[in-house]
Amino acid sequence: MIPSPPHLRIFEPHPGIFAYYDGRVPGYRFDPRPNWVDDGALEVGVASFALVQGHQAIVYDTGTTLAHGAAVKAHLDGLGVTSLRIVYSHWHKDHVAGTATFGAAPVIANSRTAAHLAQRKAEIEAGAEWPPIDPLVLPSQTFDGMLALTLGALRVELHCFNIHSDDATVIWLPEAGILLAGDTLEDPVTYVAEPEGFAAHLADLGRLATLNPVHILPCHGDPDIIAAGGHGVGLITATQTYTRFLISLKDDPGRAKTPLRDIIGADLEAGHIRWFDAYAGVHALNVTAAMKEYGHG
Ligand SMILES: [Zn+2]
Repeated sequence: MIPSPPHLRIFEPHPGIFAYYDGRVPGYRFDPRPNWVDDGALEVGVASFALVQGHQAIVYDTGTTLAHGAAVKAHLDGLGVTSLRIVYSHWHKDHVAGTATFGAAPVIANSRTAAHLAQRKAEIEAGAEWPPIDPLVLPSQTFDGMLALTLGALRVELHCFNIHSDDATVIWLPEAGILLAGDTLEDPVTYVAEPEGFAAHLADLGRLATLNPVHILPCHGDPDIIAAGGHGVGLITATQTYTRFLISLKDDPGRAKTPLRDIIGADLEAGHIRWFDAYAGVHALNVTAAMKEYGHG
């Protein structure tokens, strides 16, 4: 049996919705060497989720390591779950590392996620970026656009977006107005992986807002906010504001030195997002990526 990750916290932000949160633990590292589990995931905090109705569950991302996946599986076993499906939010490694612990459970993803993972399977399994995910479990069922599932009496919609990565799948619970946002929304600011997609991200943030979510649960964010039920729609407007700032660097590269607190100050004050020190470093990387994209680098 794989030991449980030492700092994993299990929250129930809404009845039947569980968050498996790890990271933001001062002084703790998964490994002293540079690695993607600490750098970009545990350092900023990371959650995966499960929706549970009776004996059925939908698992939204499988955790940052096999041990996280095993802990989620053990928790669901303890709740009496006997039938589960997995949904991938996108292809990034911190979201798909625990799948092998779920045995033969079906894995649903959009077709872009499936293509990204298939293309990178060999290098991810070989640990081109350490640690490896081996085996990397590819999706067994793909969709495009929207897929509606039922979980007990609950309608569960999967919607595709191009925000953060071009293969995002969010989970939308229309009756309760709850959005599981994956990495499309991050508290306090997004992590830029695809600066070439800024315009598409901004357009799709507008489309995401039309869902009118009441509660938003991001994968990376403040654990207390997630535990208490999530963010309001202000997390979307904050992400739009920040994305517009990055786009503004194209014509106004002199703004690159603007402190992060000045860019997001109004959203911090309004309580849409909450400051976390590690994001000063994320912001510095984001600005570098944007400046390079716009030829100022
Ligand atoms: Zn992530």
